[in-house]
Amino acid sequence: MNKQLRKAVIAGNWKMNKTPAQATQLINEIKPLVKDAGCDVVVCVPYIDLQAALAATVGTNVKVGAENCHWEPSGAFTGEISAEMLRSMGVTYVIIGHSERRTYFGDTDLTVKKRLRAAIDNGLTAILCVGEYLEQREQGITAEVIRTQTKIALGGISEKELEKVIIAYEPVWAIGTGKTATAEQANEVNKAIRDLICELYGKAAADKITVQYGGSMNAGNAQELLAQPDVDGGLIGGASLKSADFAAIVAAASK
Ligand code: PEP
Repeated sequence: MNKQLRKAVIAGNWKMNKTPAQATQLINEIKPLVKDAGCDVVVCVPYIDLQAALAATVGTNVKVGAENCHWEPSGAFTGEISAEMLRSMGVTYVIIGHSERRTYFGDTDLTVKKRLRAAIDNGLTAILCVGEYLEQREQGITAEVIRTQTKIALGGISEKELEKVIIAYEPVWAIGTGKTATAEQANEVNKAIRDLICELYGKAAADKITVQYGGSMNAGNAQELLAQPDVDGGLIGGASLKSADFAAIVAAASK
């Protein structure tokens, strides 16, 4: 599979951090540091920061995403935000199925599938997160878990629509823990995801799809992870909140 066929994407996941004023400040720090990036650069921010982030990124190469979306366009879903609402404000990316949404907020493979459908129907680029718990890795069922999560989420997504899907392999045990998957572990699962895409959609689609790694990626380990043949970028939590660290990861992905 040819890595040159796809662009690396470095996406920050700010989680529940930053007020709108702080978001503007962080983006203003990031912008000059990443302006010559050889990869796509995205910041996925809390809903209340979207307006500020969109304003701060006008005319730059930094794209803005949300961290989740609901599948219905509108209705009685207190506290939710729809993909249509995101599109209407000019948001272009959205994270779908992050493990924190699955673990703490009841997201399931089926709701992830519905959210992905809505994101695609609204022209958003979706960052679909999949990943195993430590117990699942220890049981030796990582590949089965990842295949099941990915297959269910992609049900009904056409090859054309797949062009708007990025898959992020995020081992749950590595998120926010400081425990990174080794470069070999990350590449092994990313390759298994690409092999599944090949089975479902064919080689051309598998060659094209961006498969990120996420889980305690930082300025120190990014280069080794991103050098792997099947790692096409990263979804970055903690390190995306520090402009210099985030920029160092973008630089590593730009090589
Ligand atoms: C994430 O939230 O997607 C993530 C990978 O977090 P961290 O980089 O902090 O492990």
